[in-house]
Amino acid sequence: MSTPRAAKRPITSEDIERAAEILGDKARRDVSLAPFTTYRVGGSAALHVHISSMEDLHQVSEALAEVDMDVLVIGRGSNMLVSDSGFSGVALTFGAFADYIDLPQKDDYPGTAPLALFGGSVTLPVAARQSVKRGLTGLEWGVGVPGSIGGAVRMNAGGHGSDMASSLESVRVFHLRKGREFELETDDLGLRFRGSALTDHHVVLSATLRLGWLSEGDSGEGRLTEIVRWRRENQPGGQNAGSVFVNPVPGEVSAGALIDECGLRGFRIGTAQVSEKHANFIQADESGLSHDVVAVMAEVRRRVYEQHGHQLRSEIRLVGFDAEANPQFADVLSSESDTSVATIRLEQIIERIFSSESRPDASIPMSVLSGSQLPSQEADLSPEVLDELREAFAKDPTGGIAQPETSRVVIVDPSIVEIESVEEVDVTTGETGSSSTRVVIVDEDLRQSTDDDFPADTQSQTVHHAPTSTRVRIFDEDGLDVSLAEIVEP
Ligand SMILES: Cc1cc2nc3c(=O)[nH]c(=O)nc-3n(C[C@H](O)[C@H](O)[C@H](O)COP(=O)(O)OP(=O)(O)OC[C@H]3O[C@@H](n4cnc5c(N)ncnc54)[C@H](O)[C@@H]3O)c2cc1C
Repeated sequence: MSTPRAAKRPITSEDIERAAEILGDKARRDVSLAPFTTYRVGGSAALHVHISSMEDLHQVSEALAEVDMDVLVIGRGSNMLVSDSGFSGVALTFGAFADYIDLPQKDDYPGTAPLALFGGSVTLPVAARQSVKRGLTGLEWGVGVPGSIGGAVRMNAGGHGSDMASSLESVRVFHLRKGREFELETDDLGLRFRGSALTDHHVVLSATLRLGWLSEGDSGEGRLTEIVRWRRENQPGGQNAGSVFVNPVPGEVSAGALIDECGLRGFRIGTAQVSEKHANFIQADESGLSHDVVAVMAEVRRRVYEQHGHQLRSEIRLVGFDAEANPQFADVLSSESDTSVATIRLEQIIERIFSSESRPDASIPMSVLSGSQLPSQEADLSPEVLDELREAFAKDPTGGIAQPETSRVVIVDPSIVEIESVEEVDVTTGETGSSSTRVVIVDEDLRQSTDDDFPADTQSQTVHHAPTSTRVRIFDEDGLDVSLAEIVEP
């Protein structure tokens, strides 16, 4: 996750003036961000807009199109530290318009995994408690995380053996640079341990989670109580933003244990200190300085590296810090991971969503989506399997994705990267050689979340043909129009 950088040229007072003009009375100037964060330290934003409607978001979008300035989306501010010099762009906070919950009733969905919808501003403790109250399970871990759903998606927040990625189905996003709203699937988001491919231009408006029903006799309340008790016992209160560093090897090496082993509990610089209760929490004093918090982070990071050889990465969002002006903190400031391959891919996916009605498949390698490489093979499917495919497409269960009259079908096994030859089958006649080609990738495995940096190539090792499983992927070779179709079991 990147710190908002200085714009290409330094922002000027004329820029702020111009942006304020476009934003009208929505914009307030020099607004202290400390009260919007759990650290409660740091300086002011040049501009602040409290978003109350989609129109407000469009207005911010217009301002950003006109003025090249940084933008900061603030949820509950429980994972960010604002520099003492503040933030030179426009900071956004959110009002009630993104604070809604839509939970299913058990009787409405007998036998199916229930989908729950949460607005981006809903807090995780509320989401967790409301879900349990409705008889749903899967979000209990959130009861002790003081963030919003939007912030939790971006951070892939989690705890107690779970995280957002475990139940996230899709998110509704507003793109501030493009001024448009759209839906993304979990696979698109590049979710990783405490991070994602989302950037400052992506506002999470809502998230759909696939939860489960609590079993008979389990009220779920016991789990909530236990989690809250554990938090109280093991985590400090006061001014902090939770764990400061990401666990270097999730599930195996914890940042807190490494810091502890360095004997750094209670280590203090000025107004900030490593918590006595939890070594991966850094507390700020009342009226403290964020400069001191970062100084403690830098020193902790240095000592852990010296003693254990692990380069700790900041889990918290460091806002408005200038590495050039603070060379002694350069390492810790750059330890927030920067624009990743996953982010580039996400933007490409968004571009494709905008440029066509249908959406591309995030689990397919970009080389395939861009058309530069088509990993195909001569399909060695049995006649029975091909019959099933034909039947499925002839039924056209998607209502229009498959066009059997005009299409050939290429059966793709993504484990074969080089194109040798392809099997082309007219789905209606079984003959080869018609004009437009569709590529069908047959396997549920391709729907799994992929590694950020090496998306489908590595996953494809496990792919096998299973055309009657549940899903197929289809896209036009020339139009690169990727769609999802359910195969109806005959
Ligand atoms: C006491 C304490 C305990 C914590 N425990 C945990 C824990 O167990 N597990 C864990 O994962 N985290 C934990 N955290 C950290 C934090 O609560 C989570 O990361 C949380 O998900 C952040 O949500 P937020 O709304 O506060 O985000 P913010 O701090 O406001 O923002 C964090 C990032 O998300 C972005 N963001 C916020 N809202 C949106 C939105 N609507 N759309 C797009 N981007 C958005 C921001 O721009 C920023 O980059 C803890 C924090 C505290 C203070």
